[in-house]
Amino acid sequence: MPNYDYKCQKCDHVFEVFQSMNDDKLTDCPLEDCDGSVKRLLGTGAGLIFKGTGFYQTDYRSDSYKSGEKKEAENSRPKADPKPEKKA
Ligand SMILES: [Zn+2]
Repeated sequence: MPNYDYKCQKCDHVFEVFQSMNDDKLTDCPLEDCDGSVKRLLGTGAGLIFKGTGFYQTDYRSDSYKSGEKKEAENSRPKADPKPEKKA
């Protein structure tokens, strides 16, 4: 079942809906205290849309992910654990 991203025109609430192609498009914001109308966003990439700023952000994220991964690998490398020196 395809999922669609909608964005409220009023409060910018973005949400994801699983619905069949035969279902009617949603028109109303699901938030109780908002009466805005929603617009279906095109394309996939919900993560990107949720971040909301642009394509460069995925690059940034993958970069930091990579460096984080590297860091993790370094941290998980077994340290040579020298025995503590005896106190005199
Ligand atoms: Zn709304």
